[in-house]
Amino acid sequence: MKNIIKTISLLLVTLLMCSQVNGKVIIAIDAGHGGKDSGAVGQYKLYEKTVTLSIANKLKVLINNDKDLKAVMTRSKDNFISVYQRSEIARDQKANLLVSIHADAAPNKSAKGASVWVLSTKRADTELGRWIEQHEKQSELLGGAGDALSEGDNRFLSQAILDLQFSYSQQVGYALATNILTELGKVVSLHKRVPEHASLGVLRSPDIPSVLIEVGFISNLSEEKLLRSDAHQNKIAQAIYRGLKNYIKTNPINKDKG
Ligand SMILES: [Zn+2]
Repeated sequence: MKNIIKTISLLLVTLLMCSQVNGKVIIAIDAGHGGKDSGAVGQYKLYEKTVTLSIANKLKVLINNDKDLKAVMTRSKDNFISVYQRSEIARDQKANLLVSIHADAAPNKSAKGASVWVLSTKRADTELGRWIEQHEKQSELLGGAGDALSEGDNRFLSQAILDLQFSYSQQVGYALATNILTELGKVVSLHKRVPEHASLGVLRSPDIPSVLIEVGFISNLSEEKLLRSDAHQNKIAQAIYRGLKNYIKTNPINKDKG
């Protein structure tokens, strides 16, 4: 019991220290696919990897024009990056949030609309197990608290904190996804009105709340046409930006990742 209280107080101290307003909120923008991985291909040969990079670049400009935000990109050209490298890049760049951009495809050519995905609890549990096996990674994630806990027999404590951190990330991810969906719903049709849970690699970070946005169906002829247009891509980028702003306005963000 004493240990649990100690863990919770350490976590609270960490969160409080981190929520002080200093510097900019760093948003990692992940343009899905790239290089040899084209992603989905439309009936008129529009490549998903092209649409995702184009929207990502537009979002980057909006974010960098905002004095409170800073964008970092997991890729800025047409190159291949593995799903696992993407969250590593975001972590190296000290990202506070990660937004991954994709376009959907389905055998049913009439399927249409945008959707937003967050990490499923099942996947979170698998990832938690993986992180626990990697002791060095653990202290990297836990920062100062991790160093304090690695002294002595505190393995249980660091696992408990990692667990809390994962649940916190999931909650933030879900709330952010809801804000983005609300804004997307004003400019494009929605495939699903609430965030969906998925077991996707890019959503695996315990320390960086992450969302994956499917901006529309590239397999749908009329959406493929829309997704090719600059005006439509701008609308989507602006909606994602407004969703991020609305979320950040009403929630404290961990800006100091040391
Ligand atoms: Zn994709």
